[in-house]
Amino acid sequence: MNTSTHRRSWVVSANGHPDFPLQNLPLGVFTCNNLSKRGGVAIGDRIFDLQAALDASLFNGVARFAAEAASRDQLNDFFALGASARQALRTELLHLLDEKSPQRERLQAMSETLLHPMTDCQMHLPAKVGDYTDFYVGIHHAINVGRLFRPDNPLLPNYKYLPIAYHGRASTLCVSGTPVKRPSGQALAPGADVPSFGPCKRLDYELEMGVWIGPGNEVGEPIAIADAEQHIAGFCLLNDWSARDLQAWEYQPLGPFLSKSFATSLSPWVVTAEALAPFRCAQPQRPTGDPTPLRYLFDAADQKGGALDIELEVLLLTAQMKEHGLAPHRLALSNTLNMYWTVAQMVAHHSVNGCKLQPGDVFGTGTLSGPQAGQFGSLLEMTEGGKHPIELPDGQTRTFLQAGDEVILTARCRREGHVSIGFGECRGVIVG
Ligand code: MN
Repeated sequence: MNTSTHRRSWVVSANGHPDFPLQNLPLGVFTCNNLSKRGGVAIGDRIFDLQAALDASLFNGVARFAAEAASRDQLNDFFALGASARQALRTELLHLLDEKSPQRERLQAMSETLLHPMTDCQMHLPAKVGDYTDFYVGIHHAINVGRLFRPDNPLLPNYKYLPIAYHGRASTLCVSGTPVKRPSGQALAPGADVPSFGPCKRLDYELEMGVWIGPGNEVGEPIAIADAEQHIAGFCLLNDWSARDLQAWEYQPLGPFLSKSFATSLSPWVVTAEALAPFRCAQPQRPTGDPTPLRYLFDAADQKGGALDIELEVLLLTAQMKEHGLAPHRLALSNTLNMYWTVAQMVAHHSVNGCKLQPGDVFGTGTLSGPQAGQFGSLLEMTEGGKHPIELPDGQTRTFLQAGDEVILTARCRREGHVSIGFGECRGVIVG
């Protein structure tokens, strides 16, 4: 498949688009004016309507079958079809939307029904999520946070043997743009002997990638690491909103509970493995002295090409900045290469005990911080546990999030000789 630099689309806004050029083609679920909720594909500043495309008989064979599944009001059935159906649909979409497409004139004549301006559309969660698991594979985050509690021994002994995770709450996953209500709960105030109840005082974000699970497995049948790629439907951005004061009091011994389950935001576009293929790279070498993963977690091909090179960014736009017409301020720039475990290792580990993964399950990677200042994916790390407030360009300071603060996550892939693609945005504004 030729997705090299010279391929352009007759959808003019796609050419040079920072997120959605012809080479990306992520899938999502949208509503537009009085059309029913349906699946579509982002191309430039438009959404290609899969139901309209099917009505016009634009697909054949496996691609038609895949487009039917992807055109529904949730993508679970499409995720369940797996990689070959997804690839067949992508091949057809590349063909149809290419500026040299033999069908170009016919498609342009129908563009009113085929292509909707994104600004007229509302995005929804792309699938019904059965289960949501949040990992902790960002090793610099684990070290930075561990150091706040255990300065001499930040990583616990299991960290380098298995991808740590906890079961999250699928029911409170929400799509980008959904306001986030400040939670209330129990916390132990500094110096207090007993907890008190009230609004969270240390509200934070976490910069993560989300992973959409594809076909999945039967109960009792682990997914081998070499097969894990077949079970990954795509990727998005994920903000694991965190109430740090609630978390500090509740997390021992079973991990986070109410400090995380009030909201988790996802970006609406599912970026496929095929779009990300040019941005694959080797998993960074483990530092000397680190253990070799156990057999079920090790695959040579995965080590050689199973990591992702995706630039990640966190921006903050406060209510006051918005009022004064200021641009969002960058809080961090990081990269998915800060993952100590690959996504395939996460899938293999999650299923090794026979746990069933299902189409539309979501994994969070864990906070993806870099090792240095300017690369931290949470305020907890940036402020060293709330000790050092950060200063914003207009003179405001923050230790944790305040009412009206909007957090914006973005992600971009760049590589010499390839067209850059992006993930769109994952936004959420704090209410209360
Ligand atoms: Mn997290």
